[in-house]
Amino acid sequence: MVLNRLSWSINLAQDIYEPSFYIIIEQIETCKVIRMAFKVIHDRPICIGCGACAAVCPEFWEMAGDGKSDLKGGKKIGDTQVLELKEIKCNMEAAQSCPVNCIHIEENGTKKI
Ligand code: SF4
Repeated sequence: MVLNRLSWSINLAQDIYEPSFYIIIEQIETCKVIRMAFKVIHDRPICIGCGACAAVCPEFWEMAGDGKSDLKGGKKIGDTQVLELKEIKCNMEAAQSCPVNCIHIEENGTKKI
């Protein structure tokens, strides 16, 4: 009787917890997939509006009405624009082309430029 009840309890626990366990694993895997490896940071006050970034990487950079460049889709944090990406694409070229080094790139929290 006790063994039957124990067995029933284990089966019930498996029924209840196993799906949850797999959902948690799926969520962890999803988090890994959507984790953004790169961060592009535009220190906009330093920008002199030369247009190099927009020329080499128009997918992410454009010139704004005030003569400086904007990081398309970048989140404004004070005067800085920040964009997180899974792939760096042409942003490394944009950063390397900037004559005043106001485009910075981090990969997994480590500054690359
Ligand atoms: S390359 Fe640098 S200075 Fe030139 S527009 Fe882009 S961010 Fe500004």
